[in-house]
Amino acid sequence: MSFSELGIGSPMLDTLVAAGYTEPTAVQKAAIPAALAGADLLVSSHTGSGKTAAFMLPSLQRLAGTPGRAGRGPRVLVLAPTRELAMQVNKAALSYGQGLRRLHTLTLVGGTPYGQQIRMLERPVDVVVATPGRLLDHMSSGRVDFSRLETLVLDEADRMLDMGFLADIEAIVAQTPADRQTLMFSATLDGVVGQLARRLTRDPRRIDIAATPTRGADIEQILLFADDMAHKTRLLDALLRDAEMQQCVVFAATKRSTEELCGLLADSGFSVAALHGDMQQGQRTRTLQRLRDGHTQVLVATDVAARGIDVAGISHVINFDAPRQAEDYVHRIGRTGRAGRSGVAVTLMGHHERHRVLDIERYTGQPIRVDVIPGLEPVRRAPRPAAKPGYRGRPSAAAGGRGRPGAGGRGGHGGHGGAQRRNTGW
Ligand code: ADP
Ligand code: MG
Repeated sequence: MSFSELGIGSPMLDTLVAAGYTEPTAVQKAAIPAALAGADLLVSSHTGSGKTAAFMLPSLQRLAGTPGRAGRGPRVLVLAPTRELAMQVNKAALSYGQGLRRLHTLTLVGGTPYGQQIRMLERPVDVVVATPGRLLDHMSSGRVDFSRLETLVLDEADRMLDMGFLADIEAIVAQTPADRQTLMFSATLDGVVGQLARRLTRDPRRIDIAATPTRGADIEQILLFADDMAHKTRLLDALLRDAEMQQCVVFAATKRSTEELCGLLADSGFSVAALHGDMQQGQRTRTLQRLRDGHTQVLVATDVAARGIDVAGISHVINFDAPRQAEDYVHRIGRTGRAGRSGVAVTLMGHHERHRVLDIERYTGQPIRVDVIPGLEPVRRAPRPAAKPGYRGRPSAAAGGRGRPGAGGRGGHGGHGGAQRRNTGW
């Protein structure tokens, strides 16, 4: 099925073809026709599955095809949890809408000066992408006109609620027209998210593509046990020196450990940068740009700061600190294996954290292979993993065979195929 069969016409269609989008993704196939028909949507779909285009293409198509009500305010409003994500969505709007004449978009995020945002709000705008806090600031000084608003999108609604934006979101939505279309995207649609969804949407179509969150992407998942912090650091060093490493996101638990790890890696000579919520917006943007440009090889980040980052060169994700929740794991490893490429996700864990792996495996329905780096084997033997069908039977050839003969496993940290089988000793 093509984008044109879903109802997307020129000029977006030509842009998509030029961008190499030959086939819509599953969530796009389901969401685009429904959104074009004007329905409210509740969508849950795994990370990297193309949700941005799923809401942006129909929104732009409607912008292009209808004149809209009189006024200057936005016709499309996207709420996103973090500044990075908001800026990425805005970039996507400009890129998918590049063929449209006079498309005005605006990002309203915290950590940036008010002055320019205020000036931009005085001009006509079509699409506003915002984090809830900053948008509400502008709204309370009466600077945002929602009289033209047709479509409201909540991207990563669950994360916005996790971050305490519930009241802000409700205050924002209360000031939008009741006849708007609401498109809500979230990893889960239960609990508080579900309650919010019921309040914000009317007779919504529910689209659920998320049964197995990481199935869509080709990501090899590996677990390395560490005896202690010193061992963990040596493992990280060895992973980062691997020849197959292009670019990497290393996840740490806190802002402080992010900074510390970044300093440590810089001292070891890596081209490394930190990304966390305490940094000034300008600094965060430059950091991401340097990553995109390939100047930075290793990004050490917290969960929130790295959420939604889409950089094709990220070949590896390393969980230096284990994720708190299985869902965070899925979002973390989704930073690699982007845009149809393959990726490797390595989780470093203390022996006592084994239960977390089981939680994650249960959530994703996928095994995480226990491996070792030759010369850096843990001294303590880890408990033997619970037998799972297919777990130990996964041949090493499955990894090596996916495209790189002779390169050993794509985990590659052994440098030779033998490393793939060392886990049989566990
Ligand atoms: P999500 O929000 O679901 O995590 P994104 O919207 O960020 O995913 O998209 C992930 C990546 O896939 C982006 O690099 C995007 O350009 C790419 N992408 C999206 N749709 C398609 C498509 N139909 N064909 C090819 N690439 C796509
Ligand atoms: Mg997204």
